[in-house]
Amino acid sequence: MMIASHLVEFEPVIGLEIHARLLTETKIFCGCSTRFGHAPNTNVCPVCLGFPGALPVLNRRTVEFAVKAALALNCNVHTRSIFARKNYFYPDLPKGYQISQYEQPLATQGALEYTTGGSGKRVRITRVHMEEDAGKSLHEGFPDSDSKTSLDYNRSGTPLIEIVTEPDLRSAADAAHAFRKLREILIAIGVNDGNMEEGSLRCDANVSVRPAGATRLGTKTEVKNINSFRYLEKALEFEISRQTDVLESGGTIVQETRLWDTATRETFSMRTKEDAHDYRYFPEPDLPPVQLLPERIEEIRRTIIELPEARRQRVMAEYALSDFEVTALERNELTAFFEATARAGRNGRAAFNWVSGEVARKINELGERFDRQRVTPDALAGLIALVEKGTISASIAKSVFDKMYESGRAAADIVAADSLAQIGDEAMLLETVRAVLAANPDAVAQIRGGKSGTVGFLVGQVMKGTGGKANPKLVNELLRRELEK
Ligand SMILES: [Zn+2]
Repeated sequence: MMIASHLVEFEPVIGLEIHARLLTETKIFCGCSTRFGHAPNTNVCPVCLGFPGALPVLNRRTVEFAVKAALALNCNVHTRSIFARKNYFYPDLPKGYQISQYEQPLATQGALEYTTGGSGKRVRITRVHMEEDAGKSLHEGFPDSDSKTSLDYNRSGTPLIEIVTEPDLRSAADAAHAFRKLREILIAIGVNDGNMEEGSLRCDANVSVRPAGATRLGTKTEVKNINSFRYLEKALEFEISRQTDVLESGGTIVQETRLWDTATRETFSMRTKEDAHDYRYFPEPDLPPVQLLPERIEEIRRTIIELPEARRQRVMAEYALSDFEVTALERNELTAFFEATARAGRNGRAAFNWVSGEVARKINELGERFDRQRVTPDALAGLIALVEKGTISASIAKSVFDKMYESGRAAADIVAADSLAQIGDEAMLLETVRAVLAANPDAVAQIRGGKSGTVGFLVGQVMKGTGGKANPKLVNELLRRELEK
């Protein structure tokens, strides 16, 4: 048995559960602010503190945003859904239960669809439901943090949607990619800010392995509360190889919840996993069922403009970009910036070269400090136009771009103020060309002797003599003419 098991290839099976904070001004069941970063316990009231007798009232905006997200994920939105109590004890959950949705969620049977590396992917969405967030336990940052845990209830009652996928993912990289695509959609439709550091978007992953080709699922573990794509990928890679090792050595996987330790780069067991019945779900008696008119659902559907995947396909077709090129733009979230630049000017190819070249370089150089307001698409289109008209050379344009970023001034102003315009005046250039020829008799002799490659050296000398401002095309022409004499 042992020997045979080493011949078995194992296949990972992964599903995601994503919690996304909805961008409402107020909480899901009360009027408290949802703003992040306020002093602890300042955005609270009897409802979100779970005082006895305080009654929840559903926030209309929460439902709109949740429906919008469900529609963008191709879900079937139900006209009737029910809130349920999920009972468990935790200090950051003052009521002793979380109001969520269970048996009749808002939406079911959706799909996340996208192309990657030229081929189509489809990850089925099991359900999208609404729920409230819990408060936050603070284990550090206070003088007595070594002996006490502090509680901040500002987050308690913040509206969330939970998006659950089917176990359709087959690698850690696939899972990270799907999570990325999901984030893109939620940001594009304006329901979530995608801020993973502040916890606006969190991901749990269910993962199991099974012999390749098997249809039965293996025992899964859940890796909880991952707030970066990289950690998701690393945690899953670790978990897949851990489970494979356990099975190959004849062991069994324990169904449990695990956490990712960013320091040791390992997952560790947090608790053995509760089953749904441990939560003793029952319909929330303080809230009526959510009733949605079909017309209302259609109204919300019409507010969804272009989704990222559709935009991607359109941009590729409209500007003749390859899959690779559009991915390069997406990596720095520059697709919209590129389009605006291309539209402000007339040359899509030049806009792409500049955005994926100089703008991306600046982003890589400055990272978080990069300020998107410094050079607008209009300003960049202005710079590109100067290159196209031949007013400045391509190499001067790069330094003008840097100056634009530093000062926020328009390209034309910088070119005028610093006298950077290309020297296209024949008489003026001819003087420099003649001087260069006179100073380099050897090179001239070589060229006349047939070594035409040496012309490049002379062009370089003329460019140098004009501080890079000479029009290279004209320099070539003048040199040729003078040498033929
Ligand atoms: Zn409140």
